[in-house]
This record gives sequence, C-alpha cells and structure tokens, in this order.
Amino acid sequence: MRVRVGQGFDVHPFIDDPDRPLVLGGVVFDDPRALAGHSDADVIAHACADALLGAAGLGDIGEHFPDTDPAWAGADSIGLLAEVARRVRAAGWEPGNVDASVVTDHPKLAPARTHMQEKLSAAVGAPVTVKGRRPEGLGALGRGEGAACWAVAVVTRA
Ligand code: MG
Repeated sequence: MRVRVGQGFDVHPFIDDPDRPLVLGGVVFDDPRALAGHSDADVIAHACADALLGAAGLGDIGEHFPDTDPAWAGADSIGLLAEVARRVRAAGWEPGNVDASVVTDHPKLAPARTHMQEKLSAAVGAPVTVKGRRPEGLGALGRGEGAACWAVAVVTRA
C-alpha cells in the first residue's frame, strides 16, 4: 500500500458584518463577526481541502475553485470539501484521515467540536478531527483580527 501525507493552511480576516454568517467546520456560529472571503471563508474546511489535495498531488484549492469564478461566490465550503474528496478518489487515492488545528481567539470552538467533526467527516468520507487553540494574545490572531487553520491529511492507494 502506498501512503502519502499532505499539509494545508488557511487564514481569513474577521469583519463586522451582522448579515454574514460565521462558518467554521461547516457549523454556523452565533457571533456578530464573520470571516471575510469569496466563499463562506470556512478556514477549517479550506485547510482540510488543501491538505487532501496536497496529499494526492493535485495542487491546491485555488486551482480547483478559483476565487475569480462567480460559481464559488459565497460557496458552501463543506460542499467544496466533498468535491475535493471526490477528485482525490477520482485520482486513485483514498482519504485516510485529516487532523486540523484551528487558532482563533473566538468563538469558543469546544461546544461545537463534535458537530464540526461530523460535518467535515461526512464531507470527506473519512475521519476528520478538529482541535482548537487560543493564540494567547500574540500577534494578529491574538488581537482577534482573523482565524487560521493548519491541517494534515493522509491518503492511501492499494
Ligand atoms: Mg480560504
């Protein structure tokens, strides 16, 4: 069996927009702030997608879903992640698991962790785990200016 690993990273800035939902790991949080971006700006789904694409040698999310393409404006990133998993399988690789570390000052992620993991795992068709970390006041993330996520994925082929 061949095994490959991929790494993904994403970051989006917070904005004050009460009309825009804050989406992390496919879960909508009740929060007055939102993450800015062309799609729904779900940093967790995006980092997981890039990790899977990297593991399969398929480039990155920007190549697959260009932010200049109006088709992806406001896109549901859980749907993008499911499409990425489909393309990974089409290339002959089976997702093994994905593990993500989110760094953000808010919102509190722990209460939604199980729900996020369920949504992400369903999209990938393999276990996705999410760990939240606070930036302890350091830098832009510590000032609450944005949220970042790192993810690692394993794919296999017989
Ligand atoms: Mg992104």
